[in-house]
Amino acid sequence: MSITEINLTSFTTVSAPLLPGLFVPVSPEVPAPGQVQTRPTIFIDRDGVINQNRKEHVLNWSEFQFIEGSKKALALLKQAGYQVVVVTNQATIERGLLTVAQLDQLHRQMANEIEMAGGQVTAVYYCPHRPEANCDCRKPRPGLLLEAASRFQIKLGDSWFIGDHLTDLEAGLAAGCKPILVQTGRGQMAAEELQGLQPGSASVSRLALKFGPSVSLRLPVKADLLDAVEFILANR
Ligand SMILES: [Zn+2]
Repeated sequence: MSITEINLTSFTTVSAPLLPGLFVPVSPEVPAPGQVQTRPTIFIDRDGVINQNRKEHVLNWSEFQFIEGSKKALALLKQAGYQVVVVTNQATIERGLLTVAQLDQLHRQMANEIEMAGGQVTAVYYCPHRPEANCDCRKPRPGLLLEAASRFQIKLGDSWFIGDHLTDLEAGLAAGCKPILVQTGRGQMAAEELQGLQPGSASVSRLALKFGPSVSLRLPVKADLLDAVEFILANR
C-alpha cells in the first residue's frame, strides 16, 4: 500500500469533532471579538419559549411557530436596550437530521421575523451534540453561556436566562445568571417539579444539591416570555 492510500484511508474514517455552534445574524450592531459590550443581556432558550415546542424536532421553517407574545417580548427588550442571545440544544446536527447550513437558515428566518417585529437577536448559540456525547456545551452545562460571555463581553451576573426546562435553570445558575422559568413549552411540568408536586424529581434534586435546598423558592416562574420580560423590566 502506498503512503497516499494510507493517508486517504485515515482521512475518510476520522471525522472532525463537532464544536459548539454560533450563528450571528447579519447586523451592524454585532461587536467584534473582544470589543467591550456593556449592554445587559437576556439569554433565551428557543423551543418552548420563543417558538412552540414540538414532540418531534423543528426541522424546517413551517414547523417553527412563534408563541403568542414572544415577538412583542423581544421588541420590548430591544426598546429597553437589552441584547438577546438565544441558547439552544440542537442534537439534530449530530443525529444528522439537519445540516449546520439548514439550522443557520432556520435561525436566519427566525432573526428576520423578530427584526420585522421590532426585536433583535444578537447571536444564537447551539450545542450540536447528542446527550451521550457528554459535552460541556449541552444544557444543563453552562458551556454555551460561558462562550457567549467571552465572545460578547457579557457580565453574567447582570444577565437573565429565560427557559422552559429545569436544565435551563441549572445552566443559568451554573453560569451565574439569574434564571426565570416560563410555563410555555415543557414549563408547566417543570414548574410542578419545582414546586415539589413531583417529589423525587432528579432535576430538582440536582438543583437542590448544587444550589441549596431553598433554590426552588428563589426562582421566578412566569406564564410566558412576555410575562418574564415584563417582570425583568419592572425589576430593573
Ligand atoms: Zn455540546
